[in-house]
Amino acid sequence: MTHPVFAILSAGGSSLEDTIELLSGAASTVAGEETSATAVVFGAAPRVDSACRAACAMFSRVRRVAHPVLEHPDAEMIRELCRRLLPPAAIVLMAHDPFGMDLGPGLAVHLGAVYLPDCLELDREGTGRMSAVRQVFGGQVNARVSADVTSGAVITVRPGAFTRPEPPVDVSREVDGPSVASGEGAGEGGSAQAGEKTRGVVPTAGVIEDWSSKVFREGVPGVGRRILSIREAGKGEVDITRSDVLVACGRGFESADDLELARELAEVMGADIACSRPLVDARWMEKTRQVGSSGQTVSPRVYLALGISGSFQHLAGIKGKPFLAAVNINRRAPIFQVADVGIVGDVLEVVPELTECFREGKG
Ligand SMILES: Cc1cc2nc3c(=O)[nH]c(=O)nc-3n(C[C@H](O)[C@H](O)[C@H](O)COP(=O)(O)OP(=O)(O)OC[C@H]3O[C@@H](n4cnc5c(N)ncnc54)[C@H](O)[C@@H]3O)c2cc1C
Repeated sequence: MTHPVFAILSAGGSSLEDTIELLSGAASTVAGEETSATAVVFGAAPRVDSACRAACAMFSRVRRVAHPVLEHPDAEMIRELCRRLLPPAAIVLMAHDPFGMDLGPGLAVHLGAVYLPDCLELDREGTGRMSAVRQVFGGQVNARVSADVTSGAVITVRPGAFTRPEPPVDVSREVDGPSVASGEGAGEGGSAQAGEKTRGVVPTAGVIEDWSSKVFREGVPGVGRRILSIREAGKGEVDITRSDVLVACGRGFESADDLELARELAEVMGADIACSRPLVDARWMEKTRQVGSSGQTVSPRVYLALGISGSFQHLAGIKGKPFLAAVNINRRAPIFQVADVGIVGDVLEVVPELTECFREGKG
């Protein structure tokens, strides 16, 4: 049996483009060749329309569910709407972010489906089974679990764990508006209709189907909570989950002032600065720069670990097999077991030399 695959998105959620990329990467892994994934975008107009167009860049089919009550991502409401629109035995994907963590468990109960939270890897195991890699015990162990998904599955995926599938849809062409396919009606929140002229960058492949009327035919779900407003958390200066080259600093640096050496190196390398957890605990760096199981998951091309021992909690945040270089004073440091290249030495001596080499190389 082929399971239909759905990715759930809230237009009012944060980091929407990253979430679309994350879920399209995860969807392409689980959908296989015989089926394509559908994105379902919940929200209020006009934001839901731009979110649908963004989703079209990576999903060939997008279901739009618009209503003013969906202005904020209310998991309780969306759980009931999902029940109305999802077919039996669906594989349902969402990000392991506050919205996904709120929505996922209850939705799995509603659908009678398996719940697989915070997945780093997903694999199909033939018909009716799926395996996933998840962190358990606060990130101390990576567990590969195998689940019977005959009745469907609700899966939350770790931000940064999946990247854009290849080949991407060409979104560079400007067209006159979204292609709205099924004409289920605008629904109460509708604004983007077939034939409407909405200028913007829209892919050619994605098809938007408006499911608003169909989903709200039974009325607005009665829910217990009322979201009054959403206050965004600070994002930090740099989003290291998108960085191509990272210079990561660990406790091998003895003072916050010494980190200036790493910043200089990062600058000549064109890299962003990241760190291990002790530097965040010491308040030398902001939390948004922390790589690891309780920090960010990154997938750069190059990762330079400076004075980092290589704990599994730190390594758990490095995905996509980057070229990993390490500098550590201890030749037996675990980081050298996973590094492609290593330098045994003091960061205070090696880092300025590396900076000089890069400067000369550039000159
Ligand atoms: C539930 C939980 C979640 C966690 N989540 C994370 C997480 O998300 N991210 C994370 O990073 N950690 C996390 N940790 C902490 C983790 O277990 C390690 O303690 C941490 O990663 C160690 O950071 P470090 O490598 O910088 O420091 P250390 O382990 O102290 O290593 C410092 C390294 O620097 C080397 N060194 C010392 N002096 C120099 C020098 N002058 N020049 C060169 N090298 C030198 C040492 O040989 C050593 O290898 C978590 C822990 C728990 C329990």
